[in-house]
Amino acid sequence: MTDIPRDHPRYQSLVTREMLVKGVRDGITSMQGLIAQGRGEAFDYLLGEKTTVSALGAEKAAVAMLLLARNPVVSVNGNAAALAAPEMVRLAKAVNAGVEVNLFHRTEERVGKIAAVLRASGCERLYGEHPDRLIPGLSHDRAKASSEGIFTADVVLVPLEDGDRCEALVKMDKKVIVVDLNPLSRSARTATVTIVDNIVRAIPNMLKLAGEMKSLSRAELEAIVKEFGNEATLSAALDAMMETVQSSKQS
Ligand code: ATP
Ligand code: MG
Repeated sequence: MTDIPRDHPRYQSLVTREMLVKGVRDGITSMQGLIAQGRGEAFDYLLGEKTTVSALGAEKAAVAMLLLARNPVVSVNGNAAALAAPEMVRLAKAVNAGVEVNLFHRTEERVGKIAAVLRASGCERLYGEHPDRLIPGLSHDRAKASSEGIFTADVVLVPLEDGDRCEALVKMDKKVIVVDLNPLSRSARTATVTIVDNIVRAIPNMLKLAGEMKSLSRAELEAIVKEFGNEATLSAALDAMMETVQSSKQS
């Protein structure tokens, strides 16, 4: 890894890039994943690279939904594996969810490598290595899912999901939680809960919330979910970005 000085103003962002470059070198992340990160970074810059109040609200609603679920599944792709594998495994454990490797640019070699990283982080309920079902409405490779995992899940956390697949999962009547820095993307607009935050902040936040919310009753969790509105959240994310633009125009 390149040595990045801790006092660099873009420290966290540069570390994140290094993690993704390592992911590509290790055969975990696709080259296209680097470009997707670039799109995300642009929006993160506008958010001031921090979790907004509305994003934290979405994270809370997402954790409540996961805790209430019958069969929750956390989906992991190449970028998520490079940026947050141990945290995603811990979150899955905290909400009693399975983990499924789910790739847009699927190769069996990459699936195997990501599965190994997840197992090394302590993942026990892992799906996606031998998918036996297809999500309706998607082309073959992208449709692959496991019958005990995503295919029958009632709640799926799919960070950095492609809009098409997000839509297909919603059509299957699943509650879909996405982490996407772009509040305008199709994923963001189609999901049940959209967390407009960087995955490197969102997953640790959710892990902390899961610990705090575990003792809540079902009625209390249901009230948190009921209170949440995705459109208002997306609109608040856009407002936060506009504010950054406005304040830099004034200064
Ligand atoms: P669609 O409109 O189909 O949803 P898209 O913009 O999502 O298209 P993708 O190539 O699937 O296109 O992009 C990945 C998405 O992931 C981008 O919207 C980007 O903002 C987001 N993203 C990338 N890196 C991160 C990250 N580290 N944390 C959160 N979101 C990210
Ligand atoms: Mg998307």
